[in-house]
Amino acid sequence: MVRDVVILGSGCAGSTAAIYTARANLSPLVLEGREPGGQLTLTTEVENFPGFPEGIQGPELVDLMRKQAERFGAAYNPETVTSVDLSRRPFIVRTETSEHLARTLIVATGASARTLGLESERKLMGRGVSTCATCDGAFFRNREVAVVGGGDTAVEEASFLTRFASKVLLVHRRNQFRASKILIDRARKNPKIEFVLDTVVTDILDAKKNEVTAVRLKSTKDGSETVRKLEGVFVAIGHDPNTKIFEGQIELDNGYIVLRDGARTSMEGVFAAGDVHDMVYRQAVTAAGAGCRAAIEAERFLEAEGR
Ligand code: NAP
Repeated sequence: MVRDVVILGSGCAGSTAAIYTARANLSPLVLEGREPGGQLTLTTEVENFPGFPEGIQGPELVDLMRKQAERFGAAYNPETVTSVDLSRRPFIVRTETSEHLARTLIVATGASARTLGLESERKLMGRGVSTCATCDGAFFRNREVAVVGGGDTAVEEASFLTRFASKVLLVHRRNQFRASKILIDRARKNPKIEFVLDTVVTDILDAKKNEVTAVRLKSTKDGSETVRKLEGVFVAIGHDPNTKIFEGQIELDNGYIVLRDGARTSMEGVFAAGDVHDMVYRQAVTAAGAGCRAAIEAERFLEAEGR
């Protein structure tokens, strides 16, 4: 069986593409991927998605999107794509358990926030540990938080968080920053930001209490350790777009899929949406918008092919 549309990924971008292509009678198949629902499942309350004045839990939001897509005939399979062959039509999509043939592909495999790799970080993710200040910053009103990282994202997030937090520790493993000078200068002038340099976070307390109460810090200069009380940790050490399977088959820039006219990749019939392409905005609502765009482009492509 050759499908009109196979969607890779089930986050905001993938499910929005599924809603649109399902409503266009294209019976899309969504391959959910390793993290069904995508990055929103790692957060708790979402307050900035339009239409939910009281806020909504991240996992619930993606679940509603999925239900909406299924109502119009989208099928969701709990499969993760292991390879794609875009050199022939229909395209071949291989997963751990099966193989699918598709006339068009919508790639919405997202990006994964890099993490520190601590067990306590994993346990407290969404419970005081976050990888998105825009999403979760407002929950830390009048609280002390730490941001980990030394790139533009970390410094920008530290400044942003001072709107809410009483104090923001910027913890960076070196004393040289990748972040641009203008952002650093602005952060240095901000009385709420404290620079904690040549330092790594070795533990986040207290996984047993299911909340963040402190971080254990270690100097990269002399190995000395300190425990600092605070209530939130924002890990901002970069993202990795999930594009390994497309290397050598579609154009990538620093791992991110390059798009033309909003949704078309360098391979005809392959479209992309969401964080797999977007290194700038990374929001649920922008991913949803991009999913809509990719779906409409896929629909037009199939129509032009006489389907
Ligand atoms: P990035 O530039 O790759 O910086 C990642 C930072 O995290 C680095 O300082 C790195 O330290 C640190 N890091 C990495 N792994 C770590 C680990 N395991 N433990 C502790 N620290 C670790 O990532 P980004 O800041 O997300 O930026 C990504 C891209 O988006 C960049 O090109 C950036 O310029 C762009 N961006 C631009 C803006 C803007 O222009 N307004 C805003 C956000 C992002 P080291 O420095 O020691 O390697």
